[in-house]
Amino acid sequence: MIALDFLSGVEQLGEMIAEARVIVPFTGAGISTECGIPDFRSPGGLWTRNRPIPFDEFVASQDVRDEAWRRRFAMEATFAAATPGRGHRALASLYKAGKIPAIITQNIDNLHQASGFAPDHVVELHGNTTYARCLGCEKRYEIAWVKQRFDVERAAPSCTDCGEPIKTATVSFGQSMPEDEMRRAAELARHCDLFLAIGSSLVVWPAAGFPVLAQNCGAKLVIINNEPTDQDDLADLVIRHDIGETLGPFVRN
Ligand code: NAD
Repeated sequence: MIALDFLSGVEQLGEMIAEARVIVPFTGAGISTECGIPDFRSPGGLWTRNRPIPFDEFVASQDVRDEAWRRRFAMEATFAAATPGRGHRALASLYKAGKIPAIITQNIDNLHQASGFAPDHVVELHGNTTYARCLGCEKRYEIAWVKQRFDVERAAPSCTDCGEPIKTATVSFGQSMPEDEMRRAAELARHCDLFLAIGSSLVVWPAAGFPVLAQNCGAKLVIINNEPTDQDDLADLVIRHDIGETLGPFVRN
């Protein structure tokens, strides 16, 4: 059901939050746009500028890896400067209040951890771009180290231990989803009584299956997004509005 107007939507959301015992949020790129990080699909979003690089192309070609890392370095100032927005802070307030056991996110920007969620309580379906890993032995590398090597070698560096490519710790198109995170997300979706889908176009599968799973297991479903999503018809409440404005009233310091 779409909220009749913004204020009654926020009021209804407040009642649902008050009644819920276990709330599980599921966030997408829309929660971070007010922090200066563009989403994928909006006008001016990342996809309108660059075609995503599929995983097999990254693995197969040094030139492609160089291009992937050039794009990542171009975003570094944006990621480094971003701080949690009102949406992140509202969810962190509900987490501190004991209402949210853990959060599921499609985001790779680390802002839920920065807002106060323990890293163990952030289920990252698409990984994290604030550090890198070797694709062979999974050794962790910092972005600054990769940049320094790139500047010296004029090419994306390989692992110093095993020689395999180093990639941001994200899940690319064509790369398999992390099994443990998928299992934990499904578990969270099955055991909540309120599921909040926030800032996701809900078109990226299998992640977009979690709102439906939660609802099939008895949870109420709320969708907060400024444009329609494929799952609006299923939701108990749809607030088609800015996330920061919608969740701002739930921020507690
Ligand atoms: P998406 O770009 O497909 O959808 C974002 C949705 O949020 C859009 O429907 C947009 O209209 C809406 N939105 C944007 N700003 C909003 C605001 N202020 N208030 C309300 N709604 C707003 O993003 P997605 O569904 O998360 O999927 C794309 C994939 O891109 C993700 O899986 C993620 O891995 C990756 N990604 C992550 C980030 C990040 O970490 N911040 C940024 C871009 C892309």
